Amino acid sequence: MSSVELVAVGTELLLGQLVDTNSAYVAAALAENGIDCYASHAVGDNRERIAALFREILERADGAISTGGLGPTVDDLTKEAVADALGLGLELDREALAEIEGFFASIGRTMRENNRKQAYLPAGSVPLPNPHGTAPGFVALRADGKFVACMPGVPREMKPMLAERLLPWLRSRFDVRDGIVTRVLHTVNIGESEIDHRIADLFASSENPKIAVLAHDYRCDVKIMAKADSAERAREAIAPLEAELSARLRGHVFGTDAMTLEGAVLALLEERSERLAVAESCTGGRISAAITAVPGASRHFLGGIVAYDNAVKQAQLGVPEETLERFGAVSEESALAMARGVRAALHAQIGLATTGIAGPEGGSPEKPVGTLCVAIADARGERAWTLQLRGDRAAIQARATTAALGLLWREIKIS
Ligand code: ATP
Ligand code: MG
Repeated sequence: MSSVELVAVGTELLLGQLVDTNSAYVAAALAENGIDCYASHAVGDNRERIAALFREILERADGAISTGGLGPTVDDLTKEAVADALGLGLELDREALAEIEGFFASIGRTMRENNRKQAYLPAGSVPLPNPHGTAPGFVALRADGKFVACMPGVPREMKPMLAERLLPWLRSRFDVRDGIVTRVLHTVNIGESEIDHRIADLFASSENPKIAVLAHDYRCDVKIMAKADSAERAREAIAPLEAELSARLRGHVFGTDAMTLEGAVLALLEERSERLAVAESCTGGRISAAITAVPGASRHFLGGIVAYDNAVKQAQLGVPEETLERFGAVSEESALAMARGVRAALHAQIGLATTGIAGPEGGSPEKPVGTLCVAIADARGERAWTLQLRGDRAAIQARATTAALGLLWREIKIS
């Protein structure tokens, strides 16, 4: 069985100063392309140890794929280590040199001698050009056909190199003809166990396409993966299962694949030509941040008021002092007054409000940490909900943001 192993190079990774997101990214891409990966390693900037690791990997696997340590500085040693491990010399690669010269010309900077050093690759390597930086990647080949593929550590440079250069090379090297297609249904306002209950039979009977349920902060993804001899066939295999899953999860699927919850909310506002304003207490601006991250949000999002202190709830949103005193700031009554207030203040069709207890302090037996009140005010009327969220402060704030957006999505959807 042919396989590869991953190597993340960098002492920072071993000191806990840098989280290895590169390996996760490469691993996901390999899985999507049907290339087996059986182990993943991290190693410091040390020539002998990197070389020893590559040698060890090639005893088990067909190839190693590394990220990091390709730059021009003295601690960038991956290339030398590969040459050591495979018993190859370093040779000037004219194409790579031209690429590096071109890169410096394009940014109008003088090229240094140590950048010239980057154009030396292990003899006989397949170069992987790097249009986003100076360090070219490469695939170095051992006489028996085993290989070490190296990419730079900077994610912005590594990702396009992987997609445009290395994956096509790997697919032909491993003779991957299969099409592997993944379809993700994003759901909200429904728990993992309820989803499981509704689709358990499909889950059990479906091997290809395969179904997986992934829980995130207050929402779940249902993933369908199909493998066939072409991407077209894989998509055909997914279609009926997707239709069945969508039917069973009706009212909860806000989008597929790259769609986000905030994107889905904006799409609904677009359909209905309505504009939104938000009043945030416990979410502290996170709802506004999520919505404004979507390009074109300005067409349907007017703005938000972070009304943290009661004085701000009163002065900016017109929440009556009596409401705050009688029911408390964390109450459906106060949330409703906030939603009504922000709708009026910003002249929006829809007002959304959150107020809650993010903790760790501030909870009481009647209103424990994690209590969240959400309210919506629009032409259809006013409604409020009280939810109980779990987790630490950061988790509660993230979940409150998703929960509020999820309720908003549902309320606009069914209106
Ligand atoms: P450069 O040409 O910039 O020196 P390089 O190939 O030498 O690139 P490194 O020096 O190892 O790469 O890392 C450069 C930066 O890339 C790191 O400071 C870090 O921000 C990021 N990086 C490196 N490895 C990883 C990794 N495994 N996961 C996430 N980010 C990484
Ligand atoms: Mg470097």
